[in-house]
Amino acid sequence: MDARSKTGVSIRSATKRYGAVVGLDDVSLDIAPGEFVSLLGPSGSGKTTLLGILGGFVKPTSGSVWVGERDITFEPPHKRDIGIVFQNYALFPHMTVGENVAFPLRARRLPKGGWAAKVADALAMVELSGYENRGIAQLSGGQRQRVALARAIVFEPQLILMDEPLSALDKQLRENMQIELRRLHRKLGATIVYVTHDQREALTMSDRVAVMRNGRLVQIDAPERLYDRPCDRFVASFIGEATLLNVARAGDSAVKLGDAVLHTAHPLPRGEELLLAVQTEKLRIDDNADEQADGGGLNGVNRLRCRVTEVLYQGESLRVFATLADGTAISLRQPGSHHARTRIPPPGNDMTVVIDPQDTIVVAA
Ligand code: ADP
Ligand code: MG
Repeated sequence: MDARSKTGVSIRSATKRYGAVVGLDDVSLDIAPGEFVSLLGPSGSGKTTLLGILGGFVKPTSGSVWVGERDITFEPPHKRDIGIVFQNYALFPHMTVGENVAFPLRARRLPKGGWAAKVADALAMVELSGYENRGIAQLSGGQRQRVALARAIVFEPQLILMDEPLSALDKQLRENMQIELRRLHRKLGATIVYVTHDQREALTMSDRVAVMRNGRLVQIDAPERLYDRPCDRFVASFIGEATLLNVARAGDSAVKLGDAVLHTAHPLPRGEELLLAVQTEKLRIDDNADEQADGGGLNGVNRLRCRVTEVLYQGESLRVFATLADGTAISLRQPGSHHARTRIPPPGNDMTVVIDPQDTIVVAA
């Protein structure tokens, strides 16, 4: 809402032990002012713990938290100037919408004269103008979530933390709210740290996505980069819909998959055990390649002969399962358009699929 929002936040070597369990394992992370960063990872990977350390309701066992130049590691939550939104909204059911949204102003003992205008501004921001006197019970799930948002932004915090705020909503509403949150982020200019276990949501909303596993930060990158260049097997399998295939090194920029040599536009990782990570939508059916042999580089693409085993119609797209000559299973996605569908041979028939060397991603096994 104002220029004060322009403060970044840093975590330095934060570790959190819960008895014998390591909830967070030596995580460092710099978030730029105004950035939208998602923490993405499976259940138990440490997302909520990291968010809790940022918010002040989890004390790190070691390490520190900084907002701008200020060490806030031991500052209590209410002193932190941080807005928080949880999955279950945590609204006060006996208060009106207006009273709920005004709560942080009361808690911060801001002058009462200014409350009404601030509440009205915050409600306008989430497109609930005029809802001040409604009861919480009268609201839909999406409206409640927006009230929770209004409450988090009403005191114009520099930093907003959200822990799976949309996971209780149905798909349609969730997708609408994702768009609204992006819009709100642009409007507020605040720094947002957003926890989700939904990779699609993280890719949709974020400037950068931090992938977590077992309390560690595995990779932090812009969505496209994360998708195109996963740093390891875990990220490759967690982002998108990839098939991971064992391959052998075949020179500096090529791997062998069965008898086929595939070229990659990227440096190969170290080590002898390698996996080719193929996102299903990066494989394309080649219509006019019957006479081509398996292998790479021709016309800038890699070719693979395979036999169709199953075609699943899934609405907007089709999933095609196939096997390579050595029996290795692969799968690809084709658009649901009539044109694309006519190009898929029926099960039992052979086809050639192609993959661009730019899309040929190899990770360590
Ligand atoms: P996520 O939000 O990614 O699901 P959490 O940060 O909640 O992960 O948990 C990370 C790890 O720490 C898990 O193994 C979890 O069981 C453990 N943990 C989290 N909070 C506590 C707690 N209060 N007491 C004991 N263990 C905890
Ligand atoms: Mg959690």
